[in-house]
Amino acid sequence: MSEGLFSVLFPSDCRICGEPQLNISRLPVCPDCVAGIHPVRGKMCSICGERVLSAYAEMDSDGLRRCPVCRRIDRPYGRAVAYGSYEGGLRELIHLLKYNGVRPAAKVLGRMLADAWTALEPEFEQAAFERGMFDQQPILVIPVPLYKSRRRERGFNQAELIARAALKVHPLRVQKQLAPEILQRTRDTHSQIGLTSHQRRLNLRGAFAVTRAAEVTGRDVILVDDVYTTGTTATECARVLRRAGARRVWVATVARTLKLATQYADIAPDLDEADNLVSEDVLAKAAGS
Ligand SMILES: [Zn+2]
Ligand SMILES: [Zn+2]
Repeated sequence: MSEGLFSVLFPSDCRICGEPQLNISRLPVCPDCVAGIHPVRGKMCSICGERVLSAYAEMDSDGLRRCPVCRRIDRPYGRAVAYGSYEGGLRELIHLLKYNGVRPAAKVLGRMLADAWTALEPEFEQAAFERGMFDQQPILVIPVPLYKSRRRERGFNQAELIARAALKVHPLRVQKQLAPEILQRTRDTHSQIGLTSHQRRLNLRGAFAVTRAAEVTGRDVILVDDVYTTGTTATECARVLRRAGARRVWVATVARTLKLATQYADIAPDLDEADNLVSEDVLAKAAGS
């Protein structure tokens, strides 16, 4: 068998674990690596999706569990949900899409996003009920936009590809409609890495705008992104959408950085023992509001 034919039949090794792929697939990732990506486990803040330590794991009277940060501040979005922790295979898969242009990864990530927003379906139904039978417009699915030069460079907006894939997955209980043009990024922003929360907010101020406010007025919105890191981007986008008249905004991402998890893994292998010793201020700081 010639080398060329061989490479056609066995196109590539898995881009995550390096093992040869047994089946021909458009996605250069083996089934084991995909199967190894799990949803977030443990107790999460119902509002922002951060993992909460057991001292704060009690539910409030409204049935929601709030982290120390969400107890203190009002978020411009109702709830933020994520499928998995931004690490390991999931992080690799997102990078393959974003930085290596491996578009078939969007399909797998879209399935995960659809899984994540399933948790919000009861709220979507409640919102549809509240709007009443004469206002049954679909929920707008709005991807966090890229600045136009960056989008041109990459050739696509990963958040939009993931949202499109997610919309194809589930039999939708409440109708959803992709609306990629409504929210725009009006200037390029520097990387948020290494900035304080105050600097991050300044960095993003005025970076997003709603182009056609009439289309978002009175509407319910799911804001979609690949990763929720500090929440500054989601917060700023939600704020702009609400100011343009959006009725409610939810946030759904494929992945989320779980700061408490990584921060405490080193110092407190037994979380239940140790978290009673940690003051709320330290927790708030760790959550990096
Ligand atoms: Zn693999
Ligand atoms: Zn929270």
